[in-house]
Amino acid sequence: MAVNIEAFKRISGEAGARGSRLAAVSKTKPVEDILALYGEGQRIFAENYVQELIGKQPGLPDDIQWHFIGHLQRNKVKYLAPFISMIQTVDSLPLLEEINKQAARHNRVIDCLLEVHIAREATKSGLAQRDAQALAERITRDPAAFPHVRLCGLMGMASFTDDLALVRSEFRKLKELCSRIQPFFGGDAGVFRELSMGMSADYSLALEEGSTLIRVGSLLFGSRN
Ligand SMILES: *Cc1c(COP(=O)(O)O)cnc(C)c1O
Repeated sequence: MAVNIEAFKRISGEAGARGSRLAAVSKTKPVEDILALYGEGQRIFAENYVQELIGKQPGLPDDIQWHFIGHLQRNKVKYLAPFISMIQTVDSLPLLEEINKQAARHNRVIDCLLEVHIAREATKSGLAQRDAQALAERITRDPAAFPHVRLCGLMGMASFTDDLALVRSEFRKLKELCSRIQPFFGGDAGVFRELSMGMSADYSLALEEGSTLIRVGSLLFGSRN
């Protein structure tokens, strides 16, 4: 087991000092590793694969807040709906409609983030900025249509590069977009405020740029195969 408790304390401390939260990315890692961080007080864990998550979740404590951060197909939403705390990767209206429908069956409200494409690489998923804004507008025009989802903010992945200025500018773009969308939600400070950005390689930069939720895996659990 390669869980790095020192790194966990340092990173969660840095996040907390900035009023941000840490989502521990546990994909490909065994439940023992998750329990090791749980024992240190960590409660938010993030996974990328539906099958893997629904395999692990039943054997782990009920007060874990599970975040989904992988690409989500509509036909898999039903497996997450009973327990998922936040879906960070909403990239279409039909997906949001399906989340609303499945959450209703369990009498739940599921927190959601819109995933926005901010990286230079064409391969990274997510909505174009203008499409994210249009989707947010569309939803706020008819809030009664989505009683079982709460749109909380944006998620993004920066370019995979050593060019820190580029990464910083991408985080800034995401924050600016979030600020542009907030007024559609009434501009209330407590609404549409989550900015999920920052991974092992760039979480410090993300915290400097206003991240409210960092997603860190390999620094905590060791590298993945
Ligand atoms: C795997 C993953 C992470 C964590 O990456 P690390 O570099 O291991 O910290 C964060 N966000 C997303 C969307 C991921 O897929």
